[in-house]
Amino acid sequence: MSKLFVISGSSGVGKGTVIKEFLKKHPDFKLSISCTTRGMREGEVHGVNYFFLSKEEFKQFIDDEEFLEWAEFSGNHYGTKKSFVEECLKNGDNLILEIDTKGALNVKRLMPDAVLIFIAPPSVEELEARLRGRHTETEEAIQKRLASIKLEIENSKKFDYTVVNDKVEKAVDDLEKIMCQN
Ligand code: 5GP
Repeated sequence: MSKLFVISGSSGVGKGTVIKEFLKKHPDFKLSISCTTRGMREGEVHGVNYFFLSKEEFKQFIDDEEFLEWAEFSGNHYGTKKSFVEECLKNGDNLILEIDTKGALNVKRLMPDAVLIFIAPPSVEELEARLRGRHTETEEAIQKRLASIKLEIENSKKFDYTVVNDKVEKAVDDLEKIMCQN
């Protein structure tokens, strides 16, 4: 039977890298592609990293009830399409949603069997340094993201598991323990 995992973590925590490494070892898991109104970062591809939508297109999807969940994060909208999740689960795929903590808790309400995993930084100071080191965001965007960290950590108390990303290999090991025997 297919399983649904929701992985959240503050910006810059390295959850993308951890998930990428996990997927290399476990091709039987699929990563959901979300929709977003944020601008494309260098190297990102439409339909691979996200479906990049205009605000109008996103609003239309909301009105048409196309989203399983959606949230505003740092001034942009992000949403998971219902049809994408339903299709994967119907095909028997194990699916990972990489979404924010608010979205994760909404998914859990709708799909109580979903397993929620929070990827935590070794420390908030470390996280701030990583976020600045990426050089992908303006100072204003960084400040917004730092402000959301507190809320994310608070929300994560309702998650099923927390994995600390100190070393990537160790974090991947921890994910395997949770996801490959759940
Ligand atoms: P980023 O802009 O760094 O790609 O993502 C910002 C935040 O949005 C991250 O915490 C990411 O997990 C979250 N996010 C990405 N897709 C979705 C989604 O479909 N729904 C929700 N609720 N959050 C999402």
